Amino acid sequence: MSLDIQKIRKDFPILSQQVYKKPLIYFDNGATTQKPRVVLDEEIKIYTQENSNIHRGVHFLSEQLTQRYEDARKVVQKFINAPNDHEVIFTSGTTESINTIAFSFGEKYVYEGDEIIISTLEHHANIVPWQMLCERKKAVLKVIPINEKGEILLDEYEKMISPKTKIVSVNHVSNALGTVNDVKSIIEIAHQNNVPVLIDGAQSIQHGKVDVQELDCDFYVFSGHKVYGPNGIGVIYGKEKWLNEIPPFMTGGEMIKKVTFEKTTFNELPFKFEAGTPNYVAAIGLATAIEYIQQLGLENIVAYEKELLDYATQKLESIEGLKIIGTAENKVSVISFNLENIHPYDAGMVIDKMGIAVRTGHHCAEPLMQRLNIEGTIRASFSFYNTKEEIDKLCEAIMTVKQMFG
Ligand code: PLP
Repeated sequence: MSLDIQKIRKDFPILSQQVYKKPLIYFDNGATTQKPRVVLDEEIKIYTQENSNIHRGVHFLSEQLTQRYEDARKVVQKFINAPNDHEVIFTSGTTESINTIAFSFGEKYVYEGDEIIISTLEHHANIVPWQMLCERKKAVLKVIPINEKGEILLDEYEKMISPKTKIVSVNHVSNALGTVNDVKSIIEIAHQNNVPVLIDGAQSIQHGKVDVQELDCDFYVFSGHKVYGPNGIGVIYGKEKWLNEIPPFMTGGEMIKKVTFEKTTFNELPFKFEAGTPNYVAAIGLATAIEYIQQLGLENIVAYEKELLDYATQKLESIEGLKIIGTAENKVSVISFNLENIHPYDAGMVIDKMGIAVRTGHHCAEPLMQRLNIEGTIRASFSFYNTKEEIDKLCEAIMTVKQMFG
């Protein structure tokens, strides 16, 4: 089945507006995705008809919403094929999810001289928490190198892993280049060495089927707002064994079993990692977003986004002086590029004035930019609601940029 893009676009109210008197072309989906009306309606419905703090009340509204929150957890569980719903923890987003694991896992298992492996392709959110842990525990951060196409060098990774390695944490898809990493092999190699792996799924969850059991990852994390859901909600999937063993990160209400002034015992999973009032409205909104894309069909989304990627790659490549940054064999619908002798910010500002939202800069991946010897890129990241006509408009805008600065 192919997607009816014009019909789908009507589901996203924001897409029908104009900016600078031009139809909005939204190519900044890597930063955040737009929300379909069903998600917005769901949130309004909760606030206008169902709102009540969950898990604490015996009254009707509280019990009803607690059930809806737990049902949302089950939707996420099925979406990523987690074995159990208590292995799905709600957080505020990928950043909080990684910080939680870096802190909790690090507290328990990382000591002086130990090593943690990440890759050159990481977003700051998957660098800084590990760096802080290494500083606290006097451990060493090791970084897997990449080739010129922006692909992880598996041979080098294999050589780096050692009895000192305590955890590997890599992204599934690079936000800056769109590279899809061979995380299955990365996990296999780590497991041969009894090392657990965290997968940062912030840029993969929206672009294809994720099956945490098939990947056999130990942790998988993502943000709701990048998969057409609300802001302020994210997920940690963690294998029960690890989540039971590591201490909580945030402490306070809800995550306790019993508190005395002398000692506190912790609640069972998943509540041990959900201190305080969770963003239950956004959790339910996330479940609605997941159901929305499931109705479209993930395989249809993958096929259409591939079509957009191929079309855009071919059109952009034909522009003189344009260099695509990140040419991995396996990519999602994200294209980073630079224009000869034109600063990405200058280009981005002109493109913006034509109503086209692209992102410019280092994309929170400064070490990657340093590795590539560039200051930044212009990044167009496509979603299933984008069209080839919009890509044509981007190419026209780039020609204007070239005329202005060339
Ligand atoms: N990891 C990757 C690969 C990302 O692309 C992002 C955001 O762009 C993050 C982590 C951080 O996500 P958030 O800001 O939603 O916490």
